[in-house]
Amino acid sequence: MSLDEVAAWVRESRSTVALTGAGVSTESGIPDFRGPNGIWTRDPAAERLSNIGYYIANAEIRRESWRRRLDHPAWGAKPNAAHRALAALEAAQRLDLLVTQNIDGLHLAAGSSAERLVEIHGTIRETACLGCGDRRPMPEVLARVAAGEADPACQRCGGILKSATVSFGQNLDPELLARAEEAAATAELFLAIGTSLTVYPVARLPEIALDAGARLVIVNAEPTPLDELAHAVIRGQAGEVLTALVAAAG
Ligand code: NAD
Repeated sequence: MSLDEVAAWVRESRSTVALTGAGVSTESGIPDFRGPNGIWTRDPAAERLSNIGYYIANAEIRRESWRRRLDHPAWGAKPNAAHRALAALEAAQRLDLLVTQNIDGLHLAAGSSAERLVEIHGTIRETACLGCGDRRPMPEVLARVAAGEADPACQRCGGILKSATVSFGQNLDPELLARAEEAAATAELFLAIGTSLTVYPVARLPEIALDAGARLVIVNAEPTPLDELAHAVIRGQAGEVLTALVAAAG
């Protein structure tokens, strides 16, 4: 399938949904989990840091998480061509909803509007208390970590603090999930970009779209489990492919 044909689908579609994953942010210098240079590919033990059970049970895991948060690559990262192309697609009124698994905030930084963005795995830009739910700006809590509180507690209830991201073992926000599922079920075109499509329930979204008769386009550097079902698979770097696609769609 040529890029021009996919661009024609973008023009024809009356309802387009995009799902992005860590692969749209690698060109901004933020490693993914499962790509060739992924965090878990290089260090499988790091997966424990993304598991809520370990996080709650083990203070050393929390201290390690906060140390990594302090110098997370997201703090200095800038949106790349992929983020900008998706913001341009929305500005051209060709994108109804952008669902991202990313926690780095780069879609917002690129100009995607909060109203049409679902950060389904949360955001690293805030913290949430696992006890009382109190939310704080991340810089405020990181300042405490930098000042020597290796595992800062909630200042309201004393509970365990964590970035406002969804770890394995934690439920997704049901309202956000419902919004994403409804959009997938009514989409005519579903774009899955820079995601290995292996993290559920998000990986179900393209399947929901397919079941409802949508066209599925996958843009990813490596094969995904849904490639065989997709109407088009574009293998390449998200920044380059999306820039060309959005330009061709006009
Ligand atoms: P993943 O690591 O499982 O898969 C990323 C996919 O993107 C891989 O298949 C890889 O081949 C592909 N890829 C990498 N760079 C690419 C590029 N420049 N262009 C096109 N494709 C590229 O990531 P996932 O599917 O998003 O699932 C992992 C989970 O990790 C998500 O829940 C997400 O919340 C979290 N995560 C987020 C970030 C972030 O916010 N930037 C970073 C790492 C992990």
